[in-house]
Amino acid sequence: MPVGEHDFQLYDTTLRDGTQQEGLSLSVGDKLAVARHLDSFGVSFIEGGWPGAIPKDTEFFRRARTDLDLRHAQLVAFGATRRPELAVHNDPQVAALLAADTPVVTLVAKADSRHVDLALRTTKTENLAMVRDTVRYLVRAGRRVFLDAEHFFDGFRTDRAYALSVVQVAAEAGAEVIVLCDTNGGTLPSELGDVLAVTASTGVRLGIHCHDDSGCAVANTLLAVDAGASHVQVTAHGYGERCGNANLFTVAANLVLKKGMPVVRDLSRLSEVAQAIGEITAVPTPRSAPYVGSGAFTHKAGLHASAIRVDPSLYQHVEPDSVGNNMRTLVSDMAGRAAIELKAKELGYDAAPEVLTRVTARVKEMERLGYTFETATASFELLLRSEMSPWDRPFEVESWRLTVGSGDCAEVSVRLRIGGEVIDATGSRPDPIEAMYEALCRGLSSSYPDLERWRLTGCQTWSLDGSLGKPAAIRAQVMLRNDIEHCSTVRVDDDSLCASWLALQDAVLFVLVCRCPAGV
Ligand SMILES: [Zn+2]
Repeated sequence: MPVGEHDFQLYDTTLRDGTQQEGLSLSVGDKLAVARHLDSFGVSFIEGGWPGAIPKDTEFFRRARTDLDLRHAQLVAFGATRRPELAVHNDPQVAALLAADTPVVTLVAKADSRHVDLALRTTKTENLAMVRDTVRYLVRAGRRVFLDAEHFFDGFRTDRAYALSVVQVAAEAGAEVIVLCDTNGGTLPSELGDVLAVTASTGVRLGIHCHDDSGCAVANTLLAVDAGASHVQVTAHGYGERCGNANLFTVAANLVLKKGMPVVRDLSRLSEVAQAIGEITAVPTPRSAPYVGSGAFTHKAGLHASAIRVDPSLYQHVEPDSVGNNMRTLVSDMAGRAAIELKAKELGYDAAPEVLTRVTARVKEMERLGYTFETATASFELLLRSEMSPWDRPFEVESWRLTVGSGDCAEVSVRLRIGGEVIDATGSRPDPIEAMYEALCRGLSSSYPDLERWRLTGCQTWSLDGSLGKPAAIRAQVMLRNDIEHCSTVRVDDDSLCASWLALQDAVLFVLVCRCPAGV
């Protein structure tokens, strides 16, 4: 049936197929937390796992009864059709599906005759009986039943009539949706469209489940919707075995924004939900992820920036706000004055044209020397402020000394001038940069107590290319953060320790000037 005659079903299988991703392992508590995010986002179905086959999943369904208060989604238990030559009511896996006590059960069935023969090791007739018996049994037990036709597209190539007979038998037995699975992920959109057209002519309600082994999972999913599928199976961030599954966030955004299908409640929460789930799984949102990545609306090329200044839609396919993301401009040697102006505005500064011209020239010159401002936004902000209006430095380093003390501990002593006062302070840590930061913080603590809220979270150095017999210069980047934000600064010097020390002073300067300028 064409889309429109049914409510469209956005079916998430992060908790089952998604967890097959290498390196991804979720506790029962993690799974419950992911389910809550998916529900609040507004997916139609949440496949929780395979009860009976995986103990953790059995436990998930048990706890879901009391710990999960789903407002929007229906919970789904996943499992296989009955075993060959076993009565359905005697199959413990099928019993475990009922015991999971979910309103919906998704059964996986072989749709490729080669798999029936070689993997299942039974006859094609028995496989059809397994589908028929299990669907009927669960429907009679009051469950809505969906059928995942595994390897359907490969099966269609091997034995079209048989693949279609699996679809027909499941539908006649009472399966509500037959989900065509590109299990190996090798089908290209053109072929998928042809297969969908033939299968849709059976009149059965179809769904789609795509893997990304050809890089086409999202494209294939959207194409299936065009061809009449009214149920799409996806995972958060495209998590899944090998190359993953069709990506929930990309598919949802495309359906809402490009096809006008209101498949979720509030698309502007897309980036927030993506980030929250990435934090639970410890597999964060990739920078380049469509719609939700930090780079999805980030512009670097000077030409783009000058056009965006006139009209952002010239270089953006949708509004970043529509998916809860932000436009960002990167400062680099590719940046023209327009990019510098956009970045200044992004940081809340209204700089005069002559200031922007000077800053642009300084950025280009410093990038030539090895600086990179792309991620060192605090260094850019300090540069911008120093060009906008002169300001008094909160502190000067009059002298400093680093020695290696007992137990290889780095000892740093520093003499600071703060206003008219001279203050000596020391730091002692195994890492010299941490010792430097400790000494600086101690010296500044009475004048700038807010500095205590900031911690040193990283210091990285890179060796830059040497030329014409000159030794390679060193670029150092220092990161500080407090509970809500981080800042990053960059310095270049011939010496690694000096570069780090200068970048560290800049980071502290940034905090004092731009984040807690009042002092005491
Ligand atoms: Zn799959």
